[in-house]
Amino acid sequence: MQLMIDGIPVEVLRKSIKNMHLYVLPPDGRVRLTVPKRMARQEMEEFLQSRAAWIRKNRAGYAAAALPFEPERFETGERIWLWGRPLELVVEESSRSGVVLEGERVLLRVPAGADVERRRQTVRDWQRELLKEAIAERLPFWEARTGLSCSDWQVRHMTSRWGSCNVNRRKLNFNLQLVMHPPGCLDYVILHEVCHLQVADHGPLFKTLLDAYMPDWRRRKALLSGRG
Ligand SMILES: [Zn+2]
Repeated sequence: MQLMIDGIPVEVLRKSIKNMHLYVLPPDGRVRLTVPKRMARQEMEEFLQSRAAWIRKNRAGYAAAALPFEPERFETGERIWLWGRPLELVVEESSRSGVVLEGERVLLRVPAGADVERRRQTVRDWQRELLKEAIAERLPFWEARTGLSCSDWQVRHMTSRWGSCNVNRRKLNFNLQLVMHPPGCLDYVILHEVCHLQVADHGPLFKTLLDAYMPDWRRRKALLSGRG
């Protein structure tokens, strides 16, 4: 079972114990609540509400806790991030693979026995579609604002960069993992890569362009690296 407190997922485990215990666990600052077997949900929620400040304070030390990350095993109960919000992953057996967003839950449908690689691929296919939709909507906006336009773009899984720009071919690449971060961060990366169509490096002229079109770009950039 999972509960949420201020957007932070809390894993709930029922045990043969007398009192509730709350933990913030390394290495990522996961929150776990152990409760007596017959404890009512409302009582747990009230308890978590009363400890919200304590949870935030104890998670603060874990840099990773603030940063979206991909599920580890793609199993029910894990967190899955979408546009900066942690949602609950629910895995269901189905002959047809696919992902459906249902309120605060992400339903991952995979055939029985699907391994972690298959699950990850199904989720990434879904994320790719969502990100492509978002870019198809936002890129024309920034092209119109700046008067710059690319010839083509694509979404790729990248491990070290949020985006890239092939200046000669006027082609942009966007990191698939942007789908896990707030939409404002995607806007920053789109504008960043579009501005490279005019200025190839990150010198003063480049920063002047960013400042002109997005005065708070530094805050958005910091958010992407967990320093926001
Ligand atoms: Zn750049």
